[in-house]
Amino acid sequence: MKIEFLGVRGSIPAPGPDTSQFGGNTPCVAIRAEDEPLIVLDAGTGIRKLGINVIKDESINEIHIFFSHTHWDHIQGLPFFAPLFNPKYTIKMYGPVHYLKNLEQILSQQMEYTYFPVRVQELAANISFHDIGETEMAIGNSFTVRTKYVNHPVVCLAYIISRDGKSFAYVTDHEPYRNLFTDSSQGDVEEGRLVAQEQTDALIDFLDGVDVACIDAQYTPEEYKSRLGWGHSSVDASHQLSKEAGVGELVLFHHDPDRTDTALQKILSNLQDRSWNPTSGSVPVRLAREGLVISL
Ligand SMILES: [Zn+2]
Repeated sequence: MKIEFLGVRGSIPAPGPDTSQFGGNTPCVAIRAEDEPLIVLDAGTGIRKLGINVIKDESINEIHIFFSHTHWDHIQGLPFFAPLFNPKYTIKMYGPVHYLKNLEQILSQQMEYTYFPVRVQELAANISFHDIGETEMAIGNSFTVRTKYVNHPVVCLAYIISRDGKSFAYVTDHEPYRNLFTDSSQGDVEEGRLVAQEQTDALIDFLDGVDVACIDAQYTPEEYKSRLGWGHSSVDASHQLSKEAGVGELVLFHHDPDRTDTALQKILSNLQDRSWNPTSGSVPVRLAREGLVISL
């Protein structure tokens, strides 16, 4: 399979000369394999360019879009995805069940006249919506998609896409689990520690041995200290998670919108300096950038 990164920026698009190397579009990753449906992870603004490319590729008729969650940066490109307007395409959309609204209601709302000139009901493609939780499903003849909840202020899913013995994990908008009871006036401190450890272990099991993991790395360790509870990881936490799960390669993802190209490269080299262990080494790591294609 070929994994193409079309949007790697978190929170809000950040175009401009300072971000031109890694890109300013919000999350979108496409996964292709010959004679298989197109798989798309999230519909941030990166999906607009993907749509233009899909229209040019006559071999694609069926598209499966998996949403990690429905915060703006992961859905705001959807109304500009050209295949939605073409009856040739069958488009299936999947996302976590929200406690107030289902996926169709949420995605339809951003296409009400208040925000956009075309309503979901007017789109020409054959579209269906699928509310999912933790599950495993087959897509096409050879893809397997597995999901797991991660730690974000709204329900959010991580995905593992597997094919031919190779696997790619997509873990965006995740904050490391932590003990929420720091003193006994809030709750049982030991129980809080155990719950956080159990949740961490379950995520490590989920990611066990994947070939490539694309993981949220919005903050530096210093920045993270003042952003607890915002639902994002530090670069060091993502590296540690990858190491514990035996991931083959880590791709740092969901870059902070204020991060320049120069700052991103510095973060990577600092992480490599800090994380290198002469005994156990470190997980190979690179920065997600628009246009990056990984073949597995
Ligand atoms: Zn996000």
